[in-house]
Amino acid sequence: MSSIIYPTTSFKATEQLILERGEGIYVYDNQGNQYLEGMAGLWCTSLGYGNEELISTVEEQMRKLTYSHMFGGKSHQVGMDLSDKLTEMVPVDNAKIFYGHSGSDANDSHIKMLRYYFNAIGKPEKRKIITRERAYHGVTVAAGSLTSLPVNLAHFDSPLEALGILRTDHAHYYHGAQNGETEAQFVDRITGNLEKMILEEGPETIAAFIAEPITGASGVIVPPAGYYEKVQAILSKYDIFFWADEVITGFGRTGNDFGSTTMGIKPDMMSFAKQMSSAYFPISASVIRGDMYEAMIDQSAETGVFGHGYTYSGHPVGCAVALKVMEIYQRDNIFEKAAKTGEYMQSKMAAFKDHPLVGDIRGAGMIGAIELVANKDKGTPFATGAVGGNIMKTCQDNGLIVRAVAGSSAAFCPPLVTTEAQIDEMFEKFGKSLDQTLDFVKKE
Ligand code: PMP
Repeated sequence: MSSIIYPTTSFKATEQLILERGEGIYVYDNQGNQYLEGMAGLWCTSLGYGNEELISTVEEQMRKLTYSHMFGGKSHQVGMDLSDKLTEMVPVDNAKIFYGHSGSDANDSHIKMLRYYFNAIGKPEKRKIITRERAYHGVTVAAGSLTSLPVNLAHFDSPLEALGILRTDHAHYYHGAQNGETEAQFVDRITGNLEKMILEEGPETIAAFIAEPITGASGVIVPPAGYYEKVQAILSKYDIFFWADEVITGFGRTGNDFGSTTMGIKPDMMSFAKQMSSAYFPISASVIRGDMYEAMIDQSAETGVFGHGYTYSGHPVGCAVALKVMEIYQRDNIFEKAAKTGEYMQSKMAAFKDHPLVGDIRGAGMIGAIELVANKDKGTPFATGAVGGNIMKTCQDNGLIVRAVAGSSAAFCPPLVTTEAQIDEMFEKFGKSLDQTLDFVKKE
């Protein structure tokens, strides 16, 4: 047992797996065992491990300019080129980009920019942010308050009220439908609740609504058809920004360039990290509409600066890597290919529908989850996390890394470069593990 305090881990846990190296979509432990990385690390290693082009990019940039900050107008070409590339790619009008190094800090920057913007336009009371139940937006004090998972909130005394955080319904039909309502009735009810909340709070007090277009950590929830259309209409009606947290869904993950594209969202703000650099270097981006930026210019005149920035905002190595990653995405048609492989992956997942443990199967493109339940007919979840822990461990023993999310859902998010033959291998290993988990459940 080392002296590391492990992130998102029980304090009592001991080391479970010690990884030594990675190659393509496989990682190897210190005993030489091979694992297919079915989760792309933490939803991030889109181009797999050991990509020589990216390694050379890191090395070249390290030799050229190891570090530079971006305070006070200092810049570098790779940072400027990357922002040009991103503004060209994102569905945000005249996008402006603030760099950070993690998904959490990208969301923190957004909270601060929202405050700054509404102060600048003389609406300081427009400051509340609506998040959803079951949301995951990071773990810093501010972004962690937008997260709704109990494990991330309990015992931390998050300053929810001070931050003006409001919570509305999640869009998980499988667990949220009441009294046998149809998907359309479910959507009407939860979007009706959203509008009611806005009216009760006062639209003039609400700045933004944040959503992962398709969620990750809360079990890969894909909202029913029509949900985002209704949400977007309500937000437009009351002049509330749509803030898309695309930390997982950005860059080809859901069968399109962005999760917003897949779900028909027109965002005003977007958050990126993870696949932005295929995890070869930590970098994030907070994207806002150009007119928000324009409105903030005068406000900064008062103090002379926009007083927000990290030492590593726009780290040149991160920018160089992200720029190269974008080049590879476009040059090698990674998103188009992943869309095709994603369809194949969804069909392989669907084949598990009759398994006695499987309650629900969800996903889009190359992200998905298979939920294991105690009662298949009623969709009753398991009371504890033991079954989720078991499927994760059994898969690992069989050479496959998956992640148990939201209790007992096995999440799949392999690198975008995974081939159909490797998808076959992944679900062959998963199927074997699922049967072993069924034996475990029967013995319990
Ligand atoms: N937003 C979403 C949607 C995420 O999935 C995550 C991380 N899983 C974050 C924000 C936080 O990113 P980070 O862990 O890099 O702070």
